Amino acid sequence: MTIRHGINWDQAQALYQTERDTFISRMPRSRELSAQAAGHLLFGVPLHWMNDWSTPFSLYVAAAQGARFTDADGHDYVDFCLGDTGAMFGHSPKPVAEAIARQAQRGYTAMLPSEDGVWVAQELARRFGLPYWQFALSASDANRFAIRWARAITGRSKVLIFNGCYHGTVDDVFVDLVDGQPQTRDSLLGQVYDITQHTRSVEFNDLAALEAVLQDGEVACLLAEPAMTNIGMVLPQPGFWQAAQALCQRYGTLLLIDETHTISSGPGGYTRAHGLQPDLFVVGKPVAGGVPCAVYGFSEQTARRAEEAKRTAPPGHSGIGTTLTANLLAMAAMRANLAEVMTDSAYQYMFGLAERLAAGLRGVIAQHQLPWCVTQIGARTEFQFTAVPPVNGSEADKILDSELEHIVHLFLLNRGLLITPFHNMILVCPDTTAADVDRLVAAFGDFVRQVR
Ligand code: PMP
Repeated sequence: MTIRHGINWDQAQALYQTERDTFISRMPRSRELSAQAAGHLLFGVPLHWMNDWSTPFSLYVAAAQGARFTDADGHDYVDFCLGDTGAMFGHSPKPVAEAIARQAQRGYTAMLPSEDGVWVAQELARRFGLPYWQFALSASDANRFAIRWARAITGRSKVLIFNGCYHGTVDDVFVDLVDGQPQTRDSLLGQVYDITQHTRSVEFNDLAALEAVLQDGEVACLLAEPAMTNIGMVLPQPGFWQAAQALCQRYGTLLLIDETHTISSGPGGYTRAHGLQPDLFVVGKPVAGGVPCAVYGFSEQTARRAEEAKRTAPPGHSGIGTTLTANLLAMAAMRANLAEVMTDSAYQYMFGLAERLAAGLRGVIAQHQLPWCVTQIGARTEFQFTAVPPVNGSEADKILDSELEHIVHLFLLNRGLLITPFHNMILVCPDTTAADVDRLVAAFGDFVRQVR
C-alpha cells in the first residue's frame, strides 16, 4: 500500500477512475460540445489552460447566478471557485446586471471618460486610501502598467518578486529561485529575453534576503501579494510587512501591492485591514463584478512622480493602456459593484461563512488525523497537504500535488460542488448559504473516509 500525503494512494487512484467514469456517463452534452470544439478551438478550448481541470473533458456552463451554476447537461452546482475570484461576490449580482442592462442602451466604449469614472475614483480613494487611480482591462495589465510606472518614476530597471508568486501574464515575474538563483520559469512560452537581467526574486517572509537584494538601490519596485495565494497559500509572519515596508522605504524601492486575491481580506483589502502603505496598488478580477476591469492606485508622492515622469518623457506612445480601458460598460458595472455589492455587510457575512467552512474542514482533518492544514485569508480558504503551513514559496511548492488535487476536485464536482483548480482554494460569496458550506464539508469528509 502506498501512502501519499497521509492517504491510501492505491485507493485514491481507484476512486479517481470511478469518478472519471461517473463524470463521463453524466455529461453527454458537455462531451458532445467538447468533441465539436476540437474542430476549431485550438486545444479544443477557448483558453488552453481550460484543459487543466480535473475533468476528462470540459464541463460546459449553461448559466450561473449567485453562488450557483447549471451545466450543459442540466446538473446544478454550488460554485466555490467563483471564476477564481472574478465572481467573488456571486455570479451576475443584481445591481451589476441592472447597471450593465442600463448601460447597454447607452454605449459600450468611446475612448472618452464617463461620469461613472469620477465616482469610482472617489470611492477607490476612500476604500483603499490611495488618492489617485488608473484603469486596465485585467489585473495582468494593471500589474504590467504599474511596473512600467515604477521603472519610469525611479529610473531603475529591476523588479523584485517573491519566489513562487503569480501576478498574471506579466513576463517580468516568471522567475523562480532554483538553488537560490533566479531563473526564468521554464514553462514560459515564446519569451526570448533573459528576464533575470531585470528581475530579482527572494523567499517570502525572509527579511534578511529582502534587505540583501534591495540595498544596492537598483530595485524599482517590489511587486507582492500581501499573502501568497497562488502556490497554495502562504501567510505573512507577524511583523513581516511592517519591516518589509520599512526596508523598501529605506532603499527607495516602491511597494506595489497586488490585492487581486487578497481583496478577500475586507472591503479595503489586506492593505486597509492591516495598515499597509503601498506606493502603488492593484486590484482586478472582481472589482467590476466580473466584467473585465482592473484598477491601480498611486500614493500622493508616487502620483506626483508619475506626472513628472510623463511630463519629461518625449511625446508619443507610453506603452501604458489599451483602447477599451475604462470603457463605459466596465465603469458602469464597477460603480454598481463598489456601491452595492462589495459592501461591508457582504464581507461580514462572507467572513462568518468562511470561518464555518475552515472549522468544518479542520474538524474532518483532525478526526482522521490527516497531515493536512487549513489556511485562511478573510473569505478565502485553502486546504493544503501539509500539517505545518508553509512559510515561503519553496515550501509551498513542495507540497502541491496536482494528481491528488484532481482526485479531490473531481469527487466534489460529481457531487455538485466546484472548487478552484490548480490548488485547493475555496471561496464563499454573499449568496452562499451555511447549508452549502455544510454540504461541502460533508463531501470532503466522505472523500477522506474513502481514501484514509
Ligand atoms: N494578480 C494575482 C494575485 C492573481 O492571482 C492573478 C490571476 N490569478 C492576477 C494578478 C492576474 O489576473 P488576470 O488573469 O485577471 O489578469
